Amino acid sequence: MPAAVGLSAEILAKYEPVIGLEVHVQLLTATKAFCGCANRFGSAPNTNICPVCLGLPGALPVLNAKAVEFATLAALALHCEVRGRSIFARKNYFYPDLPKGYQISQYDKPIAEHGYIDVPTANGTMKRIGITRLHMEEDAGKSLHDGFADSATRTYLDLNRCGTPLVEIVSEPDIRTPDEAWEYLTRLKEILLYTGVSDCNMEEGSLRCDANVSVRPRGQEKFGTKAEVKNVNSFRFVRAALEYEIERQIELIEAGRHVTQESRLWNAAEGRTFSMRSKEQAHDYRYFPEPDLPPLIVTPEFLAQRRAELPELPEARRARMIAEYELSAKDAATLTASREFADRFEAAARTAKSARRVANLLLSEVGGRVNALGLEQEQSPVSMAGIVLAADLLEEDKISSKQLKQLFDVCFEKGEDFPAVYEREKPEQITDSSALEAMIDEVIAANPKQVEQYRAGKKTVAGFFVGQVMRASKGQANPALLNELVAKKLEG
Ligand SMILES: [Zn+2]
Repeated sequence: MPAAVGLSAEILAKYEPVIGLEVHVQLLTATKAFCGCANRFGSAPNTNICPVCLGLPGALPVLNAKAVEFATLAALALHCEVRGRSIFARKNYFYPDLPKGYQISQYDKPIAEHGYIDVPTANGTMKRIGITRLHMEEDAGKSLHDGFADSATRTYLDLNRCGTPLVEIVSEPDIRTPDEAWEYLTRLKEILLYTGVSDCNMEEGSLRCDANVSVRPRGQEKFGTKAEVKNVNSFRFVRAALEYEIERQIELIEAGRHVTQESRLWNAAEGRTFSMRSKEQAHDYRYFPEPDLPPLIVTPEFLAQRRAELPELPEARRARMIAEYELSAKDAATLTASREFADRFEAAARTAKSARRVANLLLSEVGGRVNALGLEQEQSPVSMAGIVLAADLLEEDKISSKQLKQLFDVCFEKGEDFPAVYEREKPEQITDSSALEAMIDEVIAANPKQVEQYRAGKKTVAGFFVGQVMRASKGQANPALLNELVAKKLEG
């Protein structure tokens, strides 16, 4: 198979990519989907296992109610319709890390269907990506191909993951560009994190993505033959794998050849996909209703409870915060990056005299220093309470913004919170009118040209005088009083 070469923009433009995503998400339940084993990442191999998750003869599964709650919550957050009666099915296949020889999944009657996620597009509008279905299933174990002295000749099995509850979220083939795929995944992860049903940790495999991609000549209705790119472990790689795969398929078609329906693996080191195996069809799995589990009934009461638990979701929260705190879309996105961070900000902002000022300080003064030092927001020495105190002092003109900057510098130099630093170094403020007036007189006398400009109608020059006096006072002039006196002197 030739590697995709750089095709010309004209040739690429002749084709339209069609992308659908399948995302597996591990649910954050304490125990597994059908047994009481701990659902925990990182335990010693083969310690969280029992006859049920190993599928030993005679062992019977019992459905974890918490897994149903989480699956339903995720379904509601993704605007899905939840089915009152869904059916578990056996998906039969052999793999060494699947000792049962089948996976309990859902097939033609999944717990939820017909949802959507809205994603931003290149031209600034929003586009709705459909969600075909969300179904419950269990994870398989893990084959360990590396890390042992004899890894060259042996593969080891860790079955701890067998029976971990999953939801699989399948999108409609509505995605048209690798960027849209990236946006969809980013939004999906954000929504799931807000609901708290998963930690979505991609390094630990809590969120895994397969991408189906095909291309067709623009204007053609019929889909082309698709390839599936399996288990790409970061959103960045999904985008890169899709870019590669789209070019590879167009190149094949342009050369008069055909795209094969198959599963392919992304090799991040080489930046290309490789054929793994021909793609199974659904009938290869011999799905049949799971005889050991009754139909899953979701009652209206159960559904209403989940609906009541649903938090405000990221998109709605951003819209509200933009209005409430007069934020830009970018700042709102920063503040809502995680539900926990947004919660801490809002709890603090509510106690402040000006929530808007808290947002500003958090994003500019504190955020800027945190970024410059390469820290995470949680590692900032200045707490939310510290930012609230700083915002209130500014709001009441008890300190100038210059003094505040100096105090924040001390906080970050010494790793101390703002209230402690403020208490110790409480900056002096000049609130004595006559002292300020004397300073203003001096600055006015030294800058006759600017006085002339002001009196000719250029009122913004007042800012120049305020700045000069503030500097002369080493940032200690009371800002409100200074503004008032400068205006009075210049008018006089
Ligand atoms: Zn078990």
